[in-house]
Amino acid sequence: MTEAPVLVINAGSSSLKYQLLDAENGEALAKGLVERIGMPGANIRHEAGEVEIRREADVPDHAAAIQLMRQLAAEAGLDLEHTPLRAVGHRVVHGGRSFMRPTVVDDHVLAEVERVSVLAPLHNPAALQGLRAALDAFPQTPHVAVFDTAFFAELPAASATYALDTAIAKKHAIRRYGFHGTSHEYVSAAAAGFLDQPDAKLIVLHLGNGASVSAVDAGRPVETSMGMTPLEGLVMGTRTGDIDPGVVLHLHRVAGLSVDEIDTLLNKKSGLLGLAGTNDMRDLVAAVEAGDDAAKLAFDVYIHRLVSYVGAYAAQLGGVDAIIFTAGVGENASAVRAALAAKLEPLLGTNLDETLNEQRSAQTREISTPDARTKLLVVPTNEEWQIARHAVDVT
Ligand code: ADP
Repeated sequence: MTEAPVLVINAGSSSLKYQLLDAENGEALAKGLVERIGMPGANIRHEAGEVEIRREADVPDHAAAIQLMRQLAAEAGLDLEHTPLRAVGHRVVHGGRSFMRPTVVDDHVLAEVERVSVLAPLHNPAALQGLRAALDAFPQTPHVAVFDTAFFAELPAASATYALDTAIAKKHAIRRYGFHGTSHEYVSAAAAGFLDQPDAKLIVLHLGNGASVSAVDAGRPVETSMGMTPLEGLVMGTRTGDIDPGVVLHLHRVAGLSVDEIDTLLNKKSGLLGLAGTNDMRDLVAAVEAGDDAAKLAFDVYIHRLVSYVGAYAAQLGGVDAIIFTAGVGENASAVRAALAAKLEPLLGTNLDETLNEQRSAQTREISTPDARTKLLVVPTNEEWQIARHAVDVT
């Protein structure tokens, strides 16, 4: 390694994920996860090559989590006190209208991230805690905020605009922002590189617990399924995705649910979990195979929504060269890929190769036959590497 490594931090409200990596080649020197911050029984898992350390500890806040990370890194042979870092890259979910690209963090940026927290009340405050703790711990190193929304900041206006009263939308910053942008950016660039086709028309399916789809034309995003919040779009592990807004009104007026109850229902108790009692695709597919009717319906609704999005995005792009699967479900759930490919075949000529679809690999790979009109690819996402590259680019 020629350059000093980059530390990437992804802070959740009660968790902190980190990775120390070489921004040139994406090689991870160490990574770890602190969970249950501020709760009894907090624990940390730290990995460095073959070494893995697990520990339960008292971790009252994100600052303590970073101290613990340093301590475990030192135990695993890496002294972060004295190892020069090239930069610290932070994942921040919402950049609002303020941040169109990765940004070096200063007091003004911190204040602005705090201001746009109204748009992501569950996510941005946690990122701020991580940012502040890391700024204290590594005061000599440049810190860069990389926003989940940034890749989609230049969506065409026709895609970003809701057909809502313009003055109200403007006043309250209501538009489609899109999320998972770091993943869509990484995966679409990796796919274009794999295909050796920089001008490719791509549809990227990021299917994790949260799920979103984007349409990318020659490297530029033209559509994405998540909107002002990550609730819009595909059926997800616990979120509804698209739903008639009239249902929300009905739940309040007729069913008598409070706004907070509706928020929890739509975000945490719906999607696959709400339909079939599990948000894990492995369990869902097993239940379908065992003949469970609720699981079958949930799977069908999930695929139906995906097909609708892919069809719409193929039309918006005016054709599609490749459809790309990524994230936990996309990279692993061959049954999801097979069901989608079967439905798309007549329109798009996706020609799934069933043997390749069943093979497991951590590499970017094609799973359609060589004569497919629309290629199907699996591209493992790597948001940490993308964040590290951005952090290096702007410092
Ligand atoms: P997150 O959105 O939390 O980052 P991930 O991208 O890690 O999610 O995806 C998590 C989901 O991936 C799990 O809920 C699970 O349904 C799915 N998944 C992981 N491994 C497999 C597998 N081998 N087969 C099917 N689904 C899988």
